Amino acid sequence: MSQTNSLEEAVLRELIGVDTSVPPGRNYLEALKVAGERLEAAGFSVEYPVTPISVVKSRVHGNVVLEGERVNMVARIVRGESKRRLLLNAHIDVVPPGPNWSRDPFRLSVEGEKLFGRGASDNKGSVAAITAAATRLAFSTGFEGELIVAFTCDEEIGGRSGLGYLVENGLKADAAIVGDGSIRTVGIAANGCMRFDVRVRGQAAHSSRNWLGVNAVEKAALVVDALAQLNRRLGERRSSVPADPDSGVDYLRPSLTVAMIRGGVKENVVPPLCEITVDRRLIPEETWEEAKAEVLGVLEALKSKDPKLDYEVEFEPQNHFSYKVSPNEEIVQLYASSWSRVMGREPLIVGGLGCVDACYLAAKGIPVVTGGVSRTGNNVHANDEFVLRSDIKSFSKIVELTALNYLKRA
Ligand SMILES: [Zn+2]
Repeated sequence: MSQTNSLEEAVLRELIGVDTSVPPGRNYLEALKVAGERLEAAGFSVEYPVTPISVVKSRVHGNVVLEGERVNMVARIVRGESKRRLLLNAHIDVVPPGPNWSRDPFRLSVEGEKLFGRGASDNKGSVAAITAAATRLAFSTGFEGELIVAFTCDEEIGGRSGLGYLVENGLKADAAIVGDGSIRTVGIAANGCMRFDVRVRGQAAHSSRNWLGVNAVEKAALVVDALAQLNRRLGERRSSVPADPDSGVDYLRPSLTVAMIRGGVKENVVPPLCEITVDRRLIPEETWEEAKAEVLGVLEALKSKDPKLDYEVEFEPQNHFSYKVSPNEEIVQLYASSWSRVMGREPLIVGGLGCVDACYLAAKGIPVVTGGVSRTGNNVHANDEFVLRSDIKSFSKIVELTALNYLKRA
């Protein structure tokens, strides 16, 4: 018999039962109500603000199909005279399950210490942990000020219509915990993301007279090679922020990946077009403008050597950007000391290589710490994603202790 009576697990079970894969991102309200109705019963006032679809449409690239309302949940409880506001956040959307699951991705399977299901680690386990922590806090008499819980959508497609929209439209706090990270570390920074397409144009011709054409695939190969060289140079660059040792680097580092290439028409046609899709990750010390100028510089240098190189570059709108907060921020220190109490050792204070919605808070000057229920090996974004029961419990406890300390009664 497994013990599934904890609030954390009951919430997680219901959340995993609602398919919130994005794209398309249906069923958000149903998933949010799993948490929202419990918070309301515990005394929170709960709202479900909707983001206009135009906000997300202008921010996603290509033919991403979106269905359903872009809806979020904001729950608030106020105690006493203090004006301090603490925000707790996690996202309710998940990446599509993909193939090769040996279990139903939308039904929680309990196997010993492991809880399987899409989103178990990223990020529904954190939603469940925060819901339980907030419920316990509501029934305690130990805090003063405002506790805000925001569960948000569309993080996996850039977060502009989720936490990004709420922050742009008046959601304020004095500090925040974003539960989209690891149970093993305390997060103070993250890399950002820049995506772009390079469209290389050639001149079609019959392949039997290929000297009459310009081969766009061959020209694109020059571009790929130049970008690969740029990636090697980026590999020498380091942030001042330490990285999780599991990531294989000591400090955060940038990267550039030529991720996709499309070109050619038929075997006997000189290809007139070849397109490359590139993913560039930025450390907190790099700006989007600098990184963009660096890419354009590489391509211009190439063209100066090869006048027949005909290309255009299209950058995606900027969504998740890099950020860092000081490790000396009160919320970071309180989270780290709560982490020590629960985990029984000193935490590693690090930056993450993946993008997170916390960037939108940091950009508004709101000190934010990230943590969560995930660990390397939990099959995040892969088949058979799981979370450890003890990690959900631990994260929930860390959030509760941090909130009690931050909103301490005077
Ligand atoms: Zn996530």
